[in-house]
Amino acid sequence: MLQSRFKMPSHDELVKRMDAIPDHVLRECPICHAKFLSMRLGRDHTCPKCGYGFRILAKRRVKITFDKFTEIDQNITVPDRYTDEKYRAKIAKAKKVTGLNESVLTGIGSLNKQQVAVGIMDPFWIMGSLGSATGEKITRLFELATRKDLPVVMFTSSGGARMQEGLHSLMQMAKVSSAVAEHSAAGLLYIVVLCDPTTGGVTASFAMDGDIILAEPHALVGFAGRRVIEQTIMQTPPKDFQSAETVMKHGFIDQIVKRSDMKKTLTQLLRLHTKENAYG
Ligand SMILES: [Zn+2]
Repeated sequence: MLQSRFKMPSHDELVKRMDAIPDHVLRECPICHAKFLSMRLGRDHTCPKCGYGFRILAKRRVKITFDKFTEIDQNITVPDRYTDEKYRAKIAKAKKVTGLNESVLTGIGSLNKQQVAVGIMDPFWIMGSLGSATGEKITRLFELATRKDLPVVMFTSSGGARMQEGLHSLMQMAKVSSAVAEHSAAGLLYIVVLCDPTTGGVTASFAMDGDIILAEPHALVGFAGRRVIEQTIMQTPPKDFQSAETVMKHGFIDQIVKRSDMKKTLTQLLRLHTKENAYG
């Protein structure tokens, strides 16, 4: 049998290679189609013209957003009973590329000495899909935050429920939302940051459960994909109907925040909502 000679690089190697992309390589923004040298993407990986935040690894987002971060539940992964050969190969590739055992990175971070429970979905882990272990990690994060009296900041980036896990994947929507409701009932703050893309079962559950919902510029935010909608309603939706800007116009997003301003904005929001600063 013919063996593929291509060997997938490890997470560390990939990050090293990404950092080693020469400054003079030409990049194109998928939103405004501006062409610019890769050096202008900067540390935040943002389009210098329209502010679109390119998709980034969860581990990179931690570095550019939080002062300190301690990962939790890093060994939770897909249970064997769900896997077949094809799925196992996808999981192995996702683990290698992202350096994560699941599509979400969870932990306790700090922003200007304020502690916060953090969840970051990784769009490079089978499209940040919501599997049973993803749901378990996010549920545990909210339960921990409720016990420790901490706010939660969740960065969503997902293609939706993971089809390989069928109903077990879909039930994570309700499971996570229940943990969010308990966190909310304890009077604690939950901030969501919608990143490109936030779709499907994630949009239909914890991505829209936040007390404050932020989004990165031009992030795709929707439920079903464009083609499914076109074939269902037999009409062509407007070009930008699922952009964060359109979704905000219709009242589902509180503010669009550039990635370079995210740390400052989150720090201010957390400070405003700490109990010492609350009225009454
Ligand atoms: Zn752009």
